[in-house]
Amino acid sequence: MVAPTVGVLALQGAFAAHATILESLGCAAPQIRTAEQLEAVDALVVPGGESTTMSMLLERSQMLEPLQLRAHAGLPVFGTCAGLILMASEVCDGRDDQVALGVLDMTVERNGYGTQIDSFETDIDVTGLDTPFHAVFIRSPLVTRLGPDVEALATLDGSPVLCRRGPVTVAAFHPELSGDDRLHRRWLSKAGIIDARWPRSQRSG
Ligand code: GLN
Repeated sequence: MVAPTVGVLALQGAFAAHATILESLGCAAPQIRTAEQLEAVDALVVPGGESTTMSMLLERSQMLEPLQLRAHAGLPVFGTCAGLILMASEVCDGRDDQVALGVLDMTVERNGYGTQIDSFETDIDVTGLDTPFHAVFIRSPLVTRLGPDVEALATLDGSPVLCRRGPVTVAAFHPELSGDDRLHRRWLSKAGIIDARWPRSQRSG
């Protein structure tokens, strides 16, 4: 069986730890920096970092339109933190040139968890997981509105922090930093990219 190719957008930000998790799940996890590389992926992680910088680099590397087209056409995407901001339809407190790809109908406020307490960690309950997920928030966006077709899989103080519509999942936190692969695994199995039993069935086979 050929391993699925789950690219990690690597223009800027926290991409390395995502690749480690994806590889441990049996996927090829190439770093994506060009439109040609983007064409070859079965799924894509858009990592945390700085969404303003990332949107500028996407434009500069002529990946913005291809990414938007593929994401709207059903490419499985896991957008984390800055990646969530890029997938949103409306961004408050962004710069004028900040891009929102409009993949999910949602409004977000950049750095919405405040400037004083920029980073924190907390356990969150996630729909479908037996035990809480330890979530690391780093200058995270606050989701202030969710469209009717977007499902909140976890909330914190009443605000959605993990959301899904079809093959697109977004997290306001950094799921790659907790030593816990359940959210990556779940995104990929719900999107039909890996078998829910992966990688055990692969290893034993
Ligand atoms: N505050 C950052 C932004 O606006 C996101 C932070 C992160 O990805 N950890 O892009």
